Amino acid sequence: GETIGILGGGQLGRMLAMAAARLGYRVHIFAPERDSIAADVAAQFTCAQWNDATALAAFAADCAVVTYEFENVPVAPLRALGDVALLPNARALEVAQDRLNEKRFVTDLGGRPAPFAAVDTAEDLAQALETIGSPGILKTRRDGYDGKGQWRIMADHDADGVVLTGQPLVYEGFVHFTAEFSVILCRAQDGTIVFWDSAENLHKGGILDRSTVPARADVAGQVPAARELAAKVAAALEYVGVLTLEFFATADGPVFNEMAPRVHNSGHWTIEGALTSQFENHVRAICGLPLGDPALAARGVEMWNLIGDEAHDWAPILSDPRNHLHLYGKAAARPGRKMGHVTRLTL
Ligand code: ATP
Ligand code: MG
Ligand code: MG
Repeated sequence: GETIGILGGGQLGRMLAMAAARLGYRVHIFAPERDSIAADVAAQFTCAQWNDATALAAFAADCAVVTYEFENVPVAPLRALGDVALLPNARALEVAQDRLNEKRFVTDLGGRPAPFAAVDTAEDLAQALETIGSPGILKTRRDGYDGKGQWRIMADHDADGVVLTGQPLVYEGFVHFTAEFSVILCRAQDGTIVFWDSAENLHKGGILDRSTVPARADVAGQVPAARELAAKVAAALEYVGVLTLEFFATADGPVFNEMAPRVHNSGHWTIEGALTSQFENHVRAICGLPLGDPALAARGVEMWNLIGDEAHDWAPILSDPRNHLHLYGKAAARPGRKMGHVTRLTL
């Protein structure tokens, strides 16, 4: 069969590789870390740095199409992929890997993020606090995930202790939300878009803890406007594959949080809970195949993450025969590390 190249070696790459294998594709993982849990289930693994042009060119030569499971891949070196299609494209990566870019991009399309300001210097921060006020959150523009690279500023004087390290930041006003939800769509090469049901997402300490489908009615009421924005984003980027937008549900409607140009943790429930999973449809889209039906396969679905140390006693989980246990094969459980997840359908 043809070979799909995946940039990134984590659990998202692993689940993509498993979906690709089921459709008869070979998978080649490219990642900088030696112990890749995606490479464990792939036919081939290139372990090299993101800026290694020679390794990237050799990787591309083996692949019919290249995709990514990690949005922080540096864009410039990807020129080394040459004529092999990168899907979603490099522009999507560029926009979504920078919080400031994505907020501006979404604002231009009519979306509404929390009030935000770029912060590069102490003066910028003072200015941002003056115009936006506290409480708010200072975030690194790049490389953040699972709430890393964020400082909560509950009162203006909290900012006094913040030491700016020179990395570009963005300050955003704190959103008083009633719930969080995500819109996950898949756009095919012919422009067809399908949406999965939106999960209501509960975060703990900045990390996704639990996704529930269907979302409560008051949250679900905000999904149409959020979908409309997500579809605009996908079309404007000529996007191919799965795209995720995270939202806060508020009394004034949906507020955009961030986007991920990839399959998403809040869509893991789709493996058993939808007729076609986010992983399968991503593979179908990048390979130019028709998309599968994203409809719910149950009355309701619950997905919860197994994080850090809670993640070593499987017996109680498996003692309930309705629980689907997913383990990512990570060797060491560190605090805050996603080790696996559990999905449970309500029939
Ligand atoms: P991810 O792993 O989803 O990529 P991340 O590190 O990019 O996470 P965010 O999504 O920006 O982080 O923030 C993590 C969580 O922190 C959010 O899901 C939300 O619960 C909370 N949060 C972030 N920004 C705000 C805000 N402006 N107002 C209120 N809560 C916020
Ligand atoms: Mg993020
Ligand atoms: Mg997030």
